[in-house]
Amino acid sequence: MGQYHPESPARIRVIEDQLIAQRLADFLHKADVPAATVQQLARVHQQRYIDEIFEMAPRQGSVHLDPDTSMNPHSLDAALHAAGAVIKAVDLVLSGEVRNAFCAVRPPGHHAERARATGFCFFNNVAVGAAHALARHGLERVAILDFDVHHGNGTEDIFARNSSVLYCSAYQYPFYPFPEPALAAPNVIHCPLQAGSDGTALRQAVNDAWLPALRDFQPQLLLLSAGFDGHRLDPLADLNWSEDDFQWVTAQLVSHADEQCDGRIVSTLEGGYDLNALARSACIHVKTLMGLSQ
Ligand SMILES: [Zn+2]
Repeated sequence: MGQYHPESPARIRVIEDQLIAQRLADFLHKADVPAATVQQLARVHQQRYIDEIFEMAPRQGSVHLDPDTSMNPHSLDAALHAAGAVIKAVDLVLSGEVRNAFCAVRPPGHHAERARATGFCFFNNVAVGAAHALARHGLERVAILDFDVHHGNGTEDIFARNSSVLYCSAYQYPFYPFPEPALAAPNVIHCPLQAGSDGTALRQAVNDAWLPALRDFQPQLLLLSAGFDGHRLDPLADLNWSEDDFQWVTAQLVSHADEQCDGRIVSTLEGGYDLNALARSACIHVKTLMGLSQ
């Protein structure tokens, strides 16, 4: 995205490094992933929009899609593989090869709307994965749980009023991308949280809104938009969550998945811009998915 941009390649490197440091890397099954196909993207994005992204991808230098979001010669390939990773993870989990999966990918995806790139996002990775689970694997109900500090306007744009998808989002508000919770569709659960609030508010939202909605909906697969920018050290936002809060929310969702859908979870990295906090938080998230945290 540019030399001083917070959405940097170092984000993935520090997560991999922390998984090694915590001696988890040896116990992980790592999967190489193909690029998502245009057909897979077109389940959630307009064909004309996909064509525009391909046409705008530069051979050299960079082009801006919005003031925060730019493409260099490698961006399209990275974005296609980020979406492809979620598809691969859905295939692995639904075939029973693995119980759950974490996609350490960038660019993130949950701000990408049906026909608009914004907020560092080009293709909506988690939405592409959800649509794949419905279309290719014949699932009837998938839930997307989003604990990135920013609301996933793209995921809401794509799935609002789609009765096969439940979308739950907890985020700082009022804050970018300035959603309007009052206008939400019935399958979209908004949990706006005040600037300066800590993990207590997150836990209350999950207990009071997410878990009851999940129990009613009975999803066959959980997809997580796992953003770690709600951490108190994150430079882009003003919530005060800790590693313990990320562990707690992950454990709640693991427990729900164990009870309702054979433990099937596909988690996808969204935000998280303090490199040390991101690495520790993503690591405890993965450790909890592995059933190894206490
Ligand atoms: Zn975010």
